[in-house]
Amino acid sequence: MADTLASTSLKRGVMRSHLDLELVSLTKRYGKTLAVDEIDHVFAAGSYVCLLGPSGCGKSTTLRMIAGHEAVSDGAIVLGGTDISARPPARRGTAMMFQSYALFPHLSVEENVAFGLKMKGVGKAERTTRAQALLELVDMAALAERMPAQLSGGQQQRVALARAMASEPQVLLLDEPLSALDPFLRLKMRTELRRLQQEMGITFIHVTHSQDEAMALSDQIVVMNAGRIEQAGPPRAVFNAPKTEFVARFIGNHNVLSRPEGRFSIRSDRVRLAAEDSAVMRARVSAIEYQGTTVALSLVGEGAEDMTVLITDEAFDAAPVNGGDAVGLAWEAADLHRLGD
Ligand code: ADP
Ligand code: MG
Repeated sequence: MADTLASTSLKRGVMRSHLDLELVSLTKRYGKTLAVDEIDHVFAAGSYVCLLGPSGCGKSTTLRMIAGHEAVSDGAIVLGGTDISARPPARRGTAMMFQSYALFPHLSVEENVAFGLKMKGVGKAERTTRAQALLELVDMAALAERMPAQLSGGQQQRVALARAMASEPQVLLLDEPLSALDPFLRLKMRTELRRLQQEMGITFIHVTHSQDEAMALSDQIVVMNAGRIEQAGPPRAVFNAPKTEFVARFIGNHNVLSRPEGRFSIRSDRVRLAAEDSAVMRARVSAIEYQGTTVALSLVGEGAEDMTVLITDEAFDAAPVNGGDAVGLAWEAADLHRLGD
């Protein structure tokens, strides 16, 4: 009975979150360093959100404040209408997924997952049942008796995930969860993370400095810069309409152009090589990178602009260019996107 209850409740997504998480003028100061500067944001219940930004922009500090591992200097963290900013980590409805090395080496996989429940005084039978249901969810039930040292990196990661889920959080917090994995495993695990989030229906807040990861995973990307939120929105909206020069450059595959009428961005795949008479800009090729389906050209424009152009390998092969060549660049005026300050 207990068995079916716990495992079916997980599978039906009973954890499904209905609580929005809101940051209100959230601020963190370390002495004179302003690590997080009055940020406001609402994380919609049940969404996958990536906090994206360069190293040192305040992502981890924001995550640690949400988790309760770092005190708030100013502002509030509100979950489902309740201010949780003064609560201890275990009483917030949040959980942090730590890196794989945080597994207890002397406990089996199952004991690792059940550990938090044991601390809470949950009985042995119930602990085992719940741990097994979670291990099933991350596809690790068959290895429940193994010790962490007997697992691959990816398997350890899944156990860490199951362990974080054991407290049935409304919000799961993940700080660069894929950065220690090799590129192949990283792609596999990111698909897995997305699947799990959708199955459980809870909010995931995932910190990353990888644009690809954020684009592939998120319902919402929150781009941070120097302790502030620069732009938030669905990946396509951020990619197609970056608000600022910083976002356009950081998100990648964009060129930034300064014109008398203002500053603009244009996607690298919307710029093409053109004959002299139809060119909008003249440029010199500085590097050519073959990327499989596309070829990336780096160029220096006539006004010393750094430009990148992405063309299909077929287009490149039809009219190849070499480093040092002078070429013309062209684009449709409609593809220029005006940037704010
Ligand atoms: P990110 O995760 O985006 O790389 P962090 O949130 O770790 O950035 O850091 C934001 C800023 O706060 C950085 O300038 C960093 O040096 C500073 N910082 C982070 N943690 C501490 C700390 N414990 N003491 C002092 N400064 C810190
Ligand atoms: Mg960090």
